[in-house]
Amino acid sequence: MVNELWYKDGLQFECLRCGNCCSGFSGTVRVSDEEIAALARRLALSEAEFRKDYTRTIGGGAISLIEKPNNDCIFFDQEQGCTVYADRPRQCRTWPFWRSNVYSPDSWKRGAKRCPGIGRGRLYTAELIKETSESDGSSGSIA
Ligand code: SF4
Ligand code: SF4
Repeated sequence: MVNELWYKDGLQFECLRCGNCCSGFSGTVRVSDEEIAALARRLALSEAEFRKDYTRTIGGGAISLIEKPNNDCIFFDQEQGCTVYADRPRQCRTWPFWRSNVYSPDSWKRGAKRCPGIGRGRLYTAELIKETSESDGSSGSIA
């Protein structure tokens, strides 16, 4: 029940466009078959070409975008930010309301160390956060 959630009064978040969530570390950005199809179309590639050049297989057979040698997401540009913004994967769209972040006040605080937009700006309702976190597109692991 939403009323029992620790964030029942909602949580604040405002993206400051710092790029921290897209750059500087090797993580996983999961992409579904539908998202791969959309990104391949965007780049005028076949899905097979896109999978070969822009993705890697991770645990459980899931697919992730790859990173540049400096560990930035393959689609992150220091000047432009995300270069595939309209077709970015759901995992990117749902940050920071991932299950692993909203699991507890401590996990939310840990997320804020990486994302300076956590805890400021727009207040999101508990209902929206819960709905988003339940299909966040990430691994679903609870930190
Ligand atoms: S780390 Fe947070 S504030 Fe920075 S770009 Fe990502 S979502 Fe926005
Ligand atoms: S796809 Fe775009 S939003 Fe997602 S991690 Fe890469 S650069 Fe960031």
